[in-house]
Amino acid sequence: MRLKIIVFMCVANVWANVGADNCKLNDIISNGDLVFYDLSHKFDDKTIYWPYVKPFAFTKKTAENREDGWYASNEFEAGEHGGTHMDAPFHFYKEGKFVDEIPMEKLILPLIIVDIGSRVNDDPNFVLNKHHLDYLLNDNNGKPCMIIFKFGWSKFYGDKQKYLGMNETAGTLNFPGLSQEVAEWITTSYKNVVGVGVDTPSLDPGSSTTFPVHRITMSAGLYGMENVKLDTTVPEYGCTGVAMPMNIAKGTGGPLRLAAICPKTVPTTF
Ligand SMILES: [Zn+2]
Repeated sequence: MRLKIIVFMCVANVWANVGADNCKLNDIISNGDLVFYDLSHKFDDKTIYWPYVKPFAFTKKTAENREDGWYASNEFEAGEHGGTHMDAPFHFYKEGKFVDEIPMEKLILPLIIVDIGSRVNDDPNFVLNKHHLDYLLNDNNGKPCMIIFKFGWSKFYGDKQKYLGMNETAGTLNFPGLSQEVAEWITTSYKNVVGVGVDTPSLDPGSSTTFPVHRITMSAGLYGMENVKLDTTVPEYGCTGVAMPMNIAKGTGGPLRLAAICPKTVPTTF
């Protein structure tokens, strides 16, 4: 009996020490001073995919009262790249990581949102160049971060024609995106950026056929986040991004649940 008591006390001490040393994050999460934003569109029959990609197909299989109680279950099929999703580096870089190989510590990081909506002004042919970003003088003090560019495009998400800027006669897409110059700037001057996101269908502008922004960022090891839902005002600084893609083995990307966790009082600069 005495031995059992001693063993129990040791375990209790270990728990107490763990609580004292390692539970600060849990304390912060539960103290009520944070706002949680969902930056993912829902997956349903309106989810936007490229024209040649299998769209989200949802099949209701079972929803019934059984002898032992309620049971419900469904099935779905979909391409990797549609709705709010992640592009793994392998998507555009043969030596790049698959989506299941991206380390967890690169998926939970300080999030910087760059709101250039007023410059875009709903122009579907706007291309973000370096001079638009000259006011961004700091880079999260060199610490790893993810950066999401807000073009103000989420408000069109419910209208596929408008969101993609589909010109059916010309066979073109027209929505804003990043320039090659900005991709090079991020990967050379801002090496602490590990993921880049947009609230449009693609990192490259809709008119692109060669996808230089994908190629430059992914060959530098960055992941992409596309169709990010930014239809509400999320603080540009001070939030933590939690980017959780579906853990598809050897996936080139996958559906993404993206959250921003922000303090209620946020800084206005880096
Ligand atoms: Zn993609």
